[in-house]
Amino acid sequence: MTARPIPAHPVSDRVTLDPADWGLPGRVGHQMLDDMMAWMRTLPDQPVWRPMPDTVRAALREPLPLEPQALEQVYREFQERILPYTGSNAHPRFWGWVMGNGSVEGMLAAMLEAGLNLNNGGTTNTSGAWLELQVLDWCKAMAGFPRSASAALVSGGSMANFVALAAAREAAAGDAADHGLHTLEQPLVFYCSSETHMSVHKGLRLLGLGRAGLRIIPANRIYRMDLEALEARIRQDRAAGLRPAAVVGNAGTVNTGAFDDLEGLAAICRREGMWFHVDGAFGALAALSPRFQPMLRGMAEADSVAFDLHKWLHTPYEAGCVVVRNPEAHRKPFAEGADYLAPFERGYVAGPGHFADFAPELSRGFRALRVWLGFKAHGVRTYARLIEQNVDQARELAMMVLEDDELELLAPVSLNIVCFRYRPAGLDEASLDALNQEIMLRLQEEGVAVMSSTTLGGRFALRVAVTNHRSRWEDFAALVVAVKEQGARPLPGPISRIASRRVPE
Ligand SMILES: *Cc1c(COP(=O)(O)O)cnc(C)c1O
Repeated sequence: MTARPIPAHPVSDRVTLDPADWGLPGRVGHQMLDDMMAWMRTLPDQPVWRPMPDTVRAALREPLPLEPQALEQVYREFQERILPYTGSNAHPRFWGWVMGNGSVEGMLAAMLEAGLNLNNGGTTNTSGAWLELQVLDWCKAMAGFPRSASAALVSGGSMANFVALAAAREAAAGDAADHGLHTLEQPLVFYCSSETHMSVHKGLRLLGLGRAGLRIIPANRIYRMDLEALEARIRQDRAAGLRPAAVVGNAGTVNTGAFDDLEGLAAICRREGMWFHVDGAFGALAALSPRFQPMLRGMAEADSVAFDLHKWLHTPYEAGCVVVRNPEAHRKPFAEGADYLAPFERGYVAGPGHFADFAPELSRGFRALRVWLGFKAHGVRTYARLIEQNVDQARELAMMVLEDDELELLAPVSLNIVCFRYRPAGLDEASLDALNQEIMLRLQEEGVAVMSSTTLGGRFALRVAVTNHRSRWEDFAALVVAVKEQGARPLPGPISRIASRRVPE
């Protein structure tokens, strides 16, 4: 038999995304790096936010680009249309919600990740998979969990809560996890406080427990869950034939930064045979500082803890982590064998494990690298000092508010969140709400500072969440001056909040 001759060029295969001249994107890339470093360095001199002109917004409504454009030109568009209007949470006077800043090292790590473009599934016998295991062990250590626990790197706190709640549901459901929750004779109930983050509500709805499957236990005067009310509700639900399955405790609530009595919750869960989950999106990491460890007593007894790396540790978005004491319980809702994913003893797929067995995603990026590089380049002690620094700044800001007759502190400062308002004499509650909304919006529009807001005891509160490695004391001093200046200016008229976002035509 004669071998078939190999034809010279049977197909036209010269299309690639690689450059014809590697020097060109290289030069643009070096320029990008220099520009981004300069942007970060000069953030304090830039406004926190600039409203986007209509012309720029209109320029972002182009048709689908079918033909290539020179990289320099695309980069120029980035510089003109995107960069000035990012309203970046990297800014030293960005204190809205709870957000991290990122870092130079994080940016570099993200570039390395994108260059490698790993799909880091864990079954592969590659440096990426082993490095992620290393990072997961570090995460367990930070949460005070043993190495025998399991963990997963996910996109953030919402997903971390979801994964933990899925494990808790599966553990409580027993056979019904396979047969469907409708086969349960005793429907499952979860418990959390009125201060709990909405991602817990969302997660339980996605898990089919509905709104009715979550009991909202009142918080006390200092925004901690009322444990007596919790115990009473558990008793009542048991008597009604329901199955109390899990309690979600807060280590740092999103409204005021309050910490539930985690030791007390752990004891109740142990006694009741319930899963104990801690949402510690930012607060769990306060455990890195010995100063705050007493607030977190009880967390190490939890069945699961969720926390973010992109908030107080400034890992570039997105990065969060969930740790679970019992790896089998963690794995059960997510492990799904498939012929095309079979592991081998040798070769490429003899990796350490299948990360998809511990979270919903199959394809996953190499975000472990940004965590690994950041931790090594910064050192975890530096994170601890930053957390202490932010807490000191928040406490000093609260002192300034308390000492000022025109300002009112609206919640005790447990850690790093300060809720306050401008309160001149002689205004009723409705006017104070309107005035403070106006102050918040003006400071945003003038690029002075981004604060967010919440409602506490029916009152509109300006909310400053300090998870910012770039903030300096001058920034807080400037905030107080600006709030008082804006407060003294007359209101333009009634302010209406939009009920839902408008999608542009
Ligand atoms: C931010 C936050 C979350 C959600 O985390 P994401 O990373 O935004 O998904 C959950 N709980 C608390 C207490 C938070 O502060």
